[in-house]
Amino acid sequence: MLKIKRSELEKLLRQAERDYPYETCGLLLGRREGDARVVYEVFETPNANKERRRDRYEISPHDYLKAEDYALEKGLEIVGVYHSHPDHPDRPSRFDLERAFPELSYLIVSVRDGKAVSYRSWELENEAFKEEEVLVWD
Ligand SMILES: [Zn+2]
Repeated sequence: MLKIKRSELEKLLRQAERDYPYETCGLLLGRREGDARVVYEVFETPNANKERRRDRYEISPHDYLKAEDYALEKGLEIVGVYHSHPDHPDRPSRFDLERAFPELSYLIVSVRDGKAVSYRSWELENEAFKEEEVLVWD
């Protein structure tokens, strides 16, 4: 289960709309509490895939380390990854699956005509994506 702070969710939705028609991306910083990954902050990262920004995203190792350092400073850790699907549903692509790691949440935002219309979160289970519940907290 993913629990995300409302103001941070809003931030990533606006980011996804701003970057339309390209994919946006970033990391979810928080803590593991029981079965849940609790997100306290989102950490925006540039999309390092310059050739296929419309349907691919990539977080550079440099930006990943930067986020990790930042999280550590705040007593948090990286608990997930978020990205957008411009004019596509909020379900993971085969490409997303190939690059996913266990123990992380993958939040995907569907953006249609520049508007964030839906989002869902996914986690790996037996090398396949399974949808997980998203709870928004204030
Ligand atoms: Zn994707």
